[in-house]
Amino acid sequence: MFLANQDYLKLPGSYLFSTVAKKTKAYTDAHPEAAIIRLGIGDVTQPLPPAVIDALHRAVDEMSRAETFRGYAPDLGYSFLREAIAENDFAARGCQVSADEIFVSDGAKGDSANIQEIFDHDSRIAVCDPVYPVYVDSNVMAGRTGTYDPATGIWSNVIYMPCTADNHFAPEIPSEQPDLIYLCFPNNPTGATITRDQMQEWVDYANRIGAVILYDAAYEAYITEDNVPHSIYECEGARTCAIEMRSFSKNAGFTGLRLGYVVIPKELKDRKGQALHPLWARRHGTKYNGAPYIVQRAGEAVYSEAGKTQVREMVGKYMENARFILDSLKSFGYEASGGVNSPYVWLRAPGNMTSWEFFDHLLEKANVVGTPGSGFGPSGEHYFRLTAFGTYENSVEAMERIRKL
Ligand code: PLP
Repeated sequence: MFLANQDYLKLPGSYLFSTVAKKTKAYTDAHPEAAIIRLGIGDVTQPLPPAVIDALHRAVDEMSRAETFRGYAPDLGYSFLREAIAENDFAARGCQVSADEIFVSDGAKGDSANIQEIFDHDSRIAVCDPVYPVYVDSNVMAGRTGTYDPATGIWSNVIYMPCTADNHFAPEIPSEQPDLIYLCFPNNPTGATITRDQMQEWVDYANRIGAVILYDAAYEAYITEDNVPHSIYECEGARTCAIEMRSFSKNAGFTGLRLGYVVIPKELKDRKGQALHPLWARRHGTKYNGAPYIVQRAGEAVYSEAGKTQVREMVGKYMENARFILDSLKSFGYEASGGVNSPYVWLRAPGNMTSWEFFDHLLEKANVVGTPGSGFGPSGEHYFRLTAFGTYENSVEAMERIRKL
């Protein structure tokens, strides 16, 4: 219905990275000599771990022989991968998630955008502000969000949960009652996390009011602190109120390979008492033909002993950058956070500059590209996101340039 008109092309979320790209291109066209450092887009830069590459080669060879060739993948994913996920991501952390509650996909973007399809059309959504734009935009496309006010950046029917310095970028329980609550920790863009106790409060709240939490754990591998949960299923009662979405993109460098998954516990129901597991199974089977066999084998290799070690090293390198960026900014007097359990550092633009003013300032004076916080929601205004996904050398050089500003 909404897609039939052109309004969805005007979604603010779709502007963010294209405007960043356009402004950067205009600058480099005018200044071809500029050595730009890109700490804007959240894409990984290190090559895939050797264990993953080996698994890919082996799987490709299997595809070349009649006896081991594979055609369509099972709708919900190969059991070798679902078993490895259940064992390593959940059982190993004391969470009760079985392999047949896992739906393998090509990543968390599609999953976090599509999951709203199994909920009522009049479901009220609550989102953190600022927020990964896909949650709001996909609900806008489904015609669920009311009207947009460009002056405030607010959709009339969305419950925004401001995440600001005052609440340490952790949302508070809203006064209005949502049906669906999108949570993402470690957070994109702020890099903030919540403790297990805080997460338990959300689970208790959702169970009390009959809401479903859509929990995006795409950055789970970056958690370094013990009291930060890796999965919402570490909380008691989460199986009756939460769906979890995971990605191999940031955890294992699969942004170009594509792999992710959704967990829907069998006992989870919507407000009307409808079980959500069979609904998503139906939706998944109807609209999706499965992640490629070779990619699912690559995903399995992430859980091998060698894979685990290599992925830890890879994430460790990004976290070295994150720590360096965070410490540097703080030492230069910036108000900065994130970066401890996250590859994102969130900083306040100096001198009360708007997010876009600081973007231009940084691009022109330091040749560093970041992402304006206002593009993630109204409460992101005056903030800015830098990512740790570059090289260490570039992170150091970027900080040196920012120091001199
Ligand atoms: N969820 C969040 C919070 C993200 O930041 C991203 C990517 O940046 C995704 C999901 C998308 O992940 P994937 O590459 O698995 O589609």
